[in-house]
Parts: sequence; C-alpha cells; structure tokens
Amino acid sequence: MTRPAFLHPFARPAAEEFITIVRGEGAAVFDAAGRRYVDALASLWYCNVGHGRTEIADAVAAQLHVLENYNCFDQFTNEPAEAITAELAAMSPVPGARVFLTSSGSEAVDSALKLARLSFSQQGRPEKHVLVGRSNAYHGVTFGGLSLQGIAPNKVGFGPLLDTVHHTGHHDLDEAEALFGEHGDRIAAFIAEPVQGAGGVHPPEPGYLAGLRRLCDEHDALLIFDEVITGFGRLGGWWGADRYGVVPDLVTFAKAVTSGYQPLGGVLVGPRVLGPLEADPTFVLRHGHTYSGHPAACVAATANIAILRDEGLVDRAEPIGRVLGGGLERLCDEGLVAGVRGVGAIWAVDMVDGVSHLAVRDAMFERGVIVRPLGASTIAFCPPLVIGVDDLALCLDALADAIADQA
Ligand code: PLP
Repeated sequence: MTRPAFLHPFARPAAEEFITIVRGEGAAVFDAAGRRYVDALASLWYCNVGHGRTEIADAVAAQLHVLENYNCFDQFTNEPAEAITAELAAMSPVPGARVFLTSSGSEAVDSALKLARLSFSQQGRPEKHVLVGRSNAYHGVTFGGLSLQGIAPNKVGFGPLLDTVHHTGHHDLDEAEALFGEHGDRIAAFIAEPVQGAGGVHPPEPGYLAGLRRLCDEHDALLIFDEVITGFGRLGGWWGADRYGVVPDLVTFAKAVTSGYQPLGGVLVGPRVLGPLEADPTFVLRHGHTYSGHPAACVAATANIAILRDEGLVDRAEPIGRVLGGGLERLCDEGLVAGVRGVGAIWAVDMVDGVSHLAVRDAMFERGVIVRPLGASTIAFCPPLVIGVDDLALCLDALADAIADQA
C-alpha cells in the first residue's frame, strides 16, 4: 500500500491507514461507512458546543463573502476582530486585559512567553528572562511551548531548546518556592495549566495555584495560565482562573474559543504586562501573525460564545462531571481501573497492571466511543458540553466492556 501524501500530526510517519471522519452532529461523529461514534474527547479537547452547528458555519460563510481577511498589522483592523477582542476582554478573569490574537494554542503560548520577557525588557530589566514550566505540562509544539512543556518524549530529536527553563514537580509548591529562592531575580514568568490536560488530566492540589500567585508576587514574576483546554466552560466556569479564584497576569486560550469551527487562539494580556509596553508611545510590538485577527475565525468565536452563553452550556460541565466522574469512580471501586482524576467535564482513568490503554482505546472505538490514550496507561474523557446521559452511559459501558475484554 502506498502511503498517503498527508504527513499526519502526532502519528507514525510509517503509518498507512487512517480512520476517515466525514460528519459530525452534537456529541457524535460519523465515519465514511456511516458508523456513529461518541466523541468523548470533543475531538482534541475543543468542541464544547458540539458538532454540526450551522449558525457558526453560516456566520463564517457570511464573513467570507464580505471580506475573507485583511491583515491587522500596524494601522489596519477589522470589525470582527475588534468585536471579539472587546468581548473577550469583558469576560477576562484578568481585569483590564487586552487581547492578542493567534491561530493556535502553540502560537498563543509562544506569544505569552515573548510578551512576558518583552515587558521586563521594556522596564530595562532584560535579565528577567527565565521561564518556568512544570513536569507533565503540555504547552504545544513550537519551540517556546515545547521548551516549557514537561512530557519528555515530545522533546526527543528536536535538538537544543530554550535553555533558561526550570521544571518543577507538577504540584510541588515547595520545589517551586526553592526555585524562586534560587532564581527569582531572573524569573520572568511561570506558566501553568490550571488543570493539566494532555499530561494526564491532573487537577491542582487545593491552594497550589494560589501559592504560585503568591510566589510570583513575592519575586515580581508574571503568572501565565495556559487555558487552552480549561477556557470556555470546561471546568464549569468560563475560565480555570475563575474556578480556582486566582488571577493570573496572562491567559492563553484557543480550542473552545471557536469549538474548532475555525482555528483561533490568543492571549489575554493583563495590566502588569501592558503597562511597560504602552508606556513608550514610540515602542513597536514586533510580534504577530499574518492571521492575527482573521475575521472568519473571529466571527466563529463570537457565534460560538453566543451558543455557550445562550444554551447555558458552561453550567453543564458539573452535571456531566457528576455522571461521568461518578461512573468512573464506581469502576474504580470495582477494581476495573486503578485510579480516577478529574474536575468539571474533564476526566481520566489509569489502567490496572496488565491492561493496555491502547487496546482499551481500540476496543472502545469498536463499541462506538472515541477516547484518547495518554502517557503509559491513561485514558482521557473530555466530551462536548452537549453530550446527553445516554451517550455518557455508552462511554462508561464501553470502557468497562473494553477492559473486561482484556481480562
Ligand atoms: N496548551 C495546552 C494546554 C494545550 O492543551 C494545547 C493543545 O492541546 C496547546 C497549548 C497547543 O495548542 P495547539 O495544538 O492549538 O497548538
């Protein structure tokens, strides 16, 4: 068999066969043969409003008919970009934030890292350039985010990364404190996902995020929340920052800002970062992408947020979590899985010894449920916020049966 021209992301280049998804509707997608699958990871943690939303498709098409894009560099702007940034600023967990736009989460992360360094450079403190990340973190694949993320295999083969980065245990405040004690005068920013996603779904220990805020304040460092997964309803509020009552200085977002109907990401940039950038009226921000402020992506975000708001979908995360998390806990009590973690509508289970998470993934697929295997033994769930109880039950049954298959 000849290999397809498409070199797939996060896949074996030698792979020859792929599953073709052709259509989506609500919490489900369909393959080329018409088989229905519950999309239990909302594709890649992003499709919060569910598939097949014609109102978003219509908004994008209408925009493309009028103006497909015109760049927003320097003196130019467009109405959809102005509208969505105003809306995002108004709902930001960081009071007084402005909004930088990108097309992906990785670009958002690298933008936040660069903005953090730049704000210190503008204060005449270029020595404050050290960036801190955590083990198990995922911050995308561009060189900045890759340097800061803490999933070791993702870094293999890509050569030297940023060398000014120190990783701490993913919930270890003592280690973070020691690190700030040693390097605090050079640390520009600490980046953390409020709930770690791709690294295995790890909610924070009580007080951990507030502790990071305190350490950053004590050492005049910036706190970046990477909310690429946690933003837009996943945790039962608009932001992880809201749920945990901690105000960061910068927030990265992507994914559910459009629920995937268009590629869009960005950074909420708080006043501590903005101040030094705005102080010199001649200073130029030499950072931005061709599609920063792409109007079709911006109208998709506006339509998507309207759906989340109008249908009260953010309030659905908790009830979903009660059914899904409760069901997973029962499987754990029965000894079918070794551990359960989660909060809101994002959950994960660890397999018991001898059960392969990849085999479970495949067996669940055969039963009409798509999940994502993570690490060495974890299966993650992060369903669209429109998922119904029947499909949640299907997810739980498919997991139990898939594990039983291997016994
Ligand atoms: N940050 C976090 C927390 C993510 O989960 C992801 C993607 O899963 C990214 C950044 C990177 O986003 P993208 O794949 O859109 O570049």
